[in-house]
Amino acid sequence: MTIDDYKFAGKKAIVRVDFNVPLDENGKITDDTRIRGALPTLKKVLADGGALIIMSHMGKPKGKVNAKFSLGQIKDAVAAALGVKEVKFAPDCAKAADAAAALKPGEVLLLENLRFYPEEEGKPVGIDKEDPAYDAAKKEMKARQKEFAKTLASYADCYVMDAFGTAHRKHASTAVIADYFDADNKMLGYLMEKEVKAVDNILSDIKRPFIAIMGGSKVSSKIGIIENLLGKVDKLILCGGMTYTFAKAHGGKIGDSIVELDKLDVALGVEELAKKNGVELVMAPDAIIADKFANDAVQKVAPSDNIPEGWQGLDAGPEAQKKFAEAIKGCKTILWNGPAGVFEFDNFCDGSRAIGNAIAEATAEGAFSLIGGGDSVACVNKFGLADKVSYISTGGGALLEAIEGKVLPGVAAIKG
Ligand code: AMP
Repeated sequence: MTIDDYKFAGKKAIVRVDFNVPLDENGKITDDTRIRGALPTLKKVLADGGALIIMSHMGKPKGKVNAKFSLGQIKDAVAAALGVKEVKFAPDCAKAADAAAALKPGEVLLLENLRFYPEEEGKPVGIDKEDPAYDAAKKEMKARQKEFAKTLASYADCYVMDAFGTAHRKHASTAVIADYFDADNKMLGYLMEKEVKAVDNILSDIKRPFIAIMGGSKVSSKIGIIENLLGKVDKLILCGGMTYTFAKAHGGKIGDSIVELDKLDVALGVEELAKKNGVELVMAPDAIIADKFANDAVQKVAPSDNIPEGWQGLDAGPEAQKKFAEAIKGCKTILWNGPAGVFEFDNFCDGSRAIGNAIAEATAEGAFSLIGGGDSVACVNKFGLADKVSYISTGGGALLEAIEGKVLPGVAAIKG
């Protein structure tokens, strides 16, 4: 079924969205990209005369109730974004049958954070993978996950999967729930359709040169996609915290910079693979270093592999910024995931800004640019470049897995 063909009038639709939005210490949303992303689907259900049951996760509460991650905090913001007077709130997502049953056409019910239940992710809690009892615990949790998904499914007549940000996870609400609806009553939402198309766009017709810019804190969390990209791109910029793992791997001095000492071999392996595949690997020759991890730290410039003790690299240096911009210039396909520094600190966001500006310029000259992952999207928004890039994805991991060519469980659950 497709969302355009489905008749929502008089029906209750349970929609999995990704409302995992960043909040400040007062519970105020600092970037509402993900809420805005879900609006076309949510508005379509209401405009057709359906009732909405919205479900999402937020943060990593690890299967326990935690007020810090309550979706109740964003209820009014969702109402404002939807343009409705009220969004009702079910404080326990697994005990919302009555609230769902009472829902009338045009009304909206938001369920509490799905990840307050370990069943959502379906991973056994409090037991080590090495434990001999782990397999049995896992089996038991999978059975509980099915029950949890069945409960959620019982609230509604149809299921819409629109959480691209979590579509790479086989969770109760993103995939397992689909088993409890027949093919005519489950569908992808507009955001999912759009995101899947954007990935197809990049993969089916790559205009070269193709450059990927991978930043963020660690190499370990991105190694799969980095290796995969090395088979696809012409150039790869590696920046952010991982710079120092590479510098260390070559015997450099990195002071107190973030480093993964157990990944030095991995870093060297990436360099070797790049060489073998003829991919130009671009890394930061210099860094903006700080005497502490804070926005008001004293800062100076140093070579990325010669950072004094007591100092840490928090951003790409001026030479690096120039090098990155030059590498991006003239490229026809651009993928950006992960910042070049601690962009959350205004005094350490110039490296990320230089990348954003170079991408905007290349886009103006005809490149297709795809920005994915919460942090890179936040960068683009922070620098006012959102309308100067081709496509902003709401997915980080999901986007990268889709680009790797993997079928996302959230898509497979609907399309088979
Ligand atoms: P990731 O979750 O791995 O994509 O990493 C994103 C985070 O990496 C952001 O919160 C950045 O602040 C952080 N980051 C980027 N560069 C550095 C750096 N040089 N040192 C410490 N953290 C960094």
